[in-house]
Amino acid sequence: MEAPKKLVLATRNPGKVRELRGPLSRFGFDVQGLPEDFPETLETGTTFEENALLKAHAAARSLGLPVIADDSGLEVDALGGAPGVHSARYGDDWPGKEGETRDQRNNRRLLDALRGVPESRRTAHFHCCMVMVWPSASFEELVAHGVWEGRITECARGENGFGYDPLFLDPELGRTGAELSREEKMARSHRARALKRLLETLERRNAQQD
Ligand code: IMP
Repeated sequence: MEAPKKLVLATRNPGKVRELRGPLSRFGFDVQGLPEDFPETLETGTTFEENALLKAHAAARSLGLPVIADDSGLEVDALGGAPGVHSARYGDDWPGKEGETRDQRNNRRLLDALRGVPESRRTAHFHCCMVMVWPSASFEELVAHGVWEGRITECARGENGFGYDPLFLDPELGRTGAELSREEKMARSHRARALKRLLETLERRNAQQD
């Protein structure tokens, strides 16, 4: 049997590494996160795809290993697609409240921005772009996208998940992202869909190379 091939996941989030280890081991990959001292890549892109590629290329170039990177966020129709690529820091220049976490401030700013907007116009989706880059001379790339459609509620519900999950209603289930179990979210989320598409593309690429 062939020895597992090393693959780096361009993230410092151990949860993401755990999530991807199983599916990628089926492709003969031994998944690891970024080394502790790896410098942060500035996400200067204007799209999720640009940012995911920036992160993947920086790591592939420097580490000489194949890399998977992703970038994701929330796009709200009534706000012209905001917060989009600024999702993680949306609330940073919003008046803060004592003891509030960054996620809580992001959510408060989102509710403020949507005050008075009726339910029918509160449509939104999470978008994830996941890419794989090889450190060969041509820096071969695979790119996949995943989307999760929903609606922004008028108040937070649920304790699970992270980020905008408490405000993001999945209309088919009638529950917010924060009211879903980890397994339920993994079956529907933008990240899970992008991963599925990326693995299908990887399978086709490998079949063409055999
Ligand atoms: P990242 O690119 O996966 O780090 O996501 C950037 C930001 O988008 C996060 O900090 C969250 O604010 C938001 N976000 C991305 N995915 C999710 C999700 O599954 N639930 C809630 N918020 C998310």
